[in-house]
Amino acid sequence: MIEIENLYKVFRTEEVETVALNGVSMSVADGEFVAVMGPSGCGKSTLLNILGLLDNPTDGRYRLAGEEVGSLRERQRTRIRRGRIGFVFQSFNLIDELNVEENVELPLRYLGVPARERRQRVTEMLRRMGISHRAQHYPQQLSGGQQQRVAIARAVIGRPQLILADEPTGNLDSRNGIEVMELLSELNREGTTIVMVTHSQRDAAYAQRTVNLFDGQIVESLEDRL
Ligand code: ADP
Ligand code: MG
Repeated sequence: MIEIENLYKVFRTEEVETVALNGVSMSVADGEFVAVMGPSGCGKSTLLNILGLLDNPTDGRYRLAGEEVGSLRERQRTRIRRGRIGFVFQSFNLIDELNVEENVELPLRYLGVPARERRQRVTEMLRRMGISHRAQHYPQQLSGGQQQRVAIARAVIGRPQLILADEPTGNLDSRNGIEVMELLSELNREGTTIVMVTHSQRDAAYAQRTVNLFDGQIVESLEDRL
């Protein structure tokens, strides 16, 4: 599914140059659930953004589902992103002006799914996520746990092959955090590949494998570095 080789990402501003990724190679098989751990600033979000084609690497190779995608133009990146990848962020990133139903429906509009099918799929998804009774509510009327369930519904409504989650429980209390992790785990058991960035040992335990990142590089263990 994912193969990256010697990935570099350098951020340059007028005064400073930050090497956020310093030669990262890894692969993720179809159907795997991988956790990426590491201290703040070690490059986790940068890696996830590149995997999600939200950003391009400065150097290195990236193959997604067999296709070289490391240096695509914005239009091609958007097409692949919409068709294949679902995102879940710590901050939920819902659109405040749209209600729950409309937020979840949005990816299907981008994919050109006809109206009748959109309604049916959204209704089903809200039921599955346990938020049917909030269909007409707006994000600011929901609890954090409900907002994250809406975000997950939106991430998976287009049936992506890959879910990328950046600290998905970071803004949730422990009960809601566990519920969100169980949802992700269930989606993985149904076949969706997941790469999740997390600070939490509890969340990482849901994954089949953990990759440790430190200072932009993959390391065996974080123990003696923290
Ligand atoms: P993490 O998610 O592990 O906390 P990030 O991937 O967000 O870390 O950041 C890695 C490093 O790259 C940090 O030093 C951060 O300040 C820097 N960085 C991230 N994004 C940018 C950006 N857009 N411009 C400049 N520096 C950035
Ligand atoms: Mg981050």
